[in-house]
Amino acid sequence: MMTSVVGIDLGTTNTVVAAQRGQHVVTLADEGGRTLIPSIVSFCANGSVQVGEPARQNRLNDPTATVYSIKRLIGRSWASDEVRLARERLPFQMEQGPGQAPMVAVRGQTYALAEISAFVLRKARSVAEAALGPGVERAVITVPASFNDLQRAATKVAARVAGLETLRILNEPTAAAIACGLDRGKSGRIAVYDFGGGTFDVTLIELSHDVLEVLSTAGDSFLGGDDIDVAMSERLAEQLQDAVGELLQEDPSSFERIRSASELLKRELSSREQAATDVEFIGTEGHRQAARVSMTRTELERLATPIVERTFDVCERALEIARFNRDALDHVLLVGGSTRMPLVRRRVETYFGRSPESQFNPDEVVAIGAAMHAAALAGGVRRSSMIPMPPAVSRRPPARAPASGSPPTRNDVGTLIASRTPPAQSLKAALPGPDSSSSAPRASSAPPHPRASATAPLANADVPLAPSGAPALLVDVTPLTLCVETVNGFCETVIARNAAVPCEGARTFVTAIDNQVSVRVAVGQGESHFFAENTLLGELQLYGLRAAPRGEVNIKVIFALDRDGILNVRAIDAATRKTTSARLRLVGLPDSDHLQLMKERHDAMPSAPNPGR
Ligand code: AMP
Repeated sequence: MMTSVVGIDLGTTNTVVAAQRGQHVVTLADEGGRTLIPSIVSFCANGSVQVGEPARQNRLNDPTATVYSIKRLIGRSWASDEVRLARERLPFQMEQGPGQAPMVAVRGQTYALAEISAFVLRKARSVAEAALGPGVERAVITVPASFNDLQRAATKVAARVAGLETLRILNEPTAAAIACGLDRGKSGRIAVYDFGGGTFDVTLIELSHDVLEVLSTAGDSFLGGDDIDVAMSERLAEQLQDAVGELLQEDPSSFERIRSASELLKRELSSREQAATDVEFIGTEGHRQAARVSMTRTELERLATPIVERTFDVCERALEIARFNRDALDHVLLVGGSTRMPLVRRRVETYFGRSPESQFNPDEVVAIGAAMHAAALAGGVRRSSMIPMPPAVSRRPPARAPASGSPPTRNDVGTLIASRTPPAQSLKAALPGPDSSSSAPRASSAPPHPRASATAPLANADVPLAPSGAPALLVDVTPLTLCVETVNGFCETVIARNAAVPCEGARTFVTAIDNQVSVRVAVGQGESHFFAENTLLGELQLYGLRAAPRGEVNIKVIFALDRDGILNVRAIDAATRKTTSARLRLVGLPDSDHLQLMKERHDAMPSAPNPGR
């Protein structure tokens, strides 16, 4: 049987699936003719599960059994601010699961977040199979550029539970740029401004001569159109409170109805100056009533402006990392449903000083790019000997003069790791040794550089055989710094953010106390100098070290980041070559037994029939 490959944009609000059909890449429609599949899962009283549009419709009737916005939470720990905020705001119940993982509790059952996303992916797969025929088993799945390893790994788990092999986890803006370049043969510097329902990301990309290089990326995984809906709902709830005489914000069912009405008004206000709608069944049990709500575009823009302005703080960060000014950009590409707002378009135009590209559908461009990449990967993979080297740093605009001791350019990173010999410093479990690059907990004095200090991008990248016009070489970057915990709770960078992936980073540490026979290597991700403020990705232990005075046993820690942004960590006793046998388990992810159980439960769960158009 022929198997098909697809590209899936697994969105916070909507999911889109696309595939190559003949000479074209197209988005695929569900039985109702819709290409946007709401990323919503509703657990019915009869034990069946609704996904997509029927679940969206059920959200108002059954808010506590209808689960959404999971992408905001996937791969996060129970203690994170995001999960805490979601527990306050979302109408369904959440519980703390094993390894600090948040779980959704519905109708007496608990579900891992990856399981919820798996329902959505399974729906995308069934839409694809209805269009392409059975045997859709492999997909390129997109994620926000700001997703960390844990979030990427959790997305892969979701795909496995849904019966899909992940060909590649691709950053959403990279996918959008692929679609953009293929369609129009563009070249130059592109800013991909991606403002969706739950997340905002901006990515600066260079596209030319069949090479797509991500120069920098920055994001906020808790900034999106949903925040605008909440700001509107709070305003409308205040207004309605006078009419209804109830504290509507405290009633989940009423607030959910007001939130849904707000979203509707917001969409309408993208094309008109004033909009109104009815909200039914608000108030307290037994006294529910209908009320009319309205808003003008001016009022919406007043509420939305502080939220939209936060996106430009993120843009500033991305420009700073790439070291160029807004006027060095050739194209601005809009992605995500929230970029349909006139306010957003106006502000983007003012900020970047140029009109954004208007010929691409912001809802579909990511899935289209993912499908192009999937088709290219499925077409065959060539090995490194054929690959052109990534473009040289000199193609960039002149950067600020590097501070002394600042990270090297991409051209000299290969020789850097072995040659640096800075002084050792005190650490908790281990001390940086001869291979380390700085004596501070984090090299804060050096300006951020587009390329990492202790990392060497692997020249041996795979080159997909691309369909005509698709970039032959994808140079993506890791969005967040990967580090190891050191003494007094500080961090040492092993792979700096914005390193081209795949890449490896290595640091050597030494023991912190006399006769230390084991070492714990805690691995984190984030930009804080303090380990506790970053995301703990996992830990590994190295036992059986030679008993020696402190500072005399060298432990080499090697991080290997693959092109899906998944991290493999090894710790090696430099003298004995003993390598840690423990594998890094990302905190909060299921082990293989648990994964199998999830898959079995998933397969057994009946789907409710979907109504048509
Ligand atoms: P995405 O995550 O890209 O699917 O974007 C979903 C977000 O886009 C949600 O917050 C929607 O309310 C918002 N959205 C979709 N269409 C419009 C529109 N026409 N005007 C304003 N916001 C929209």
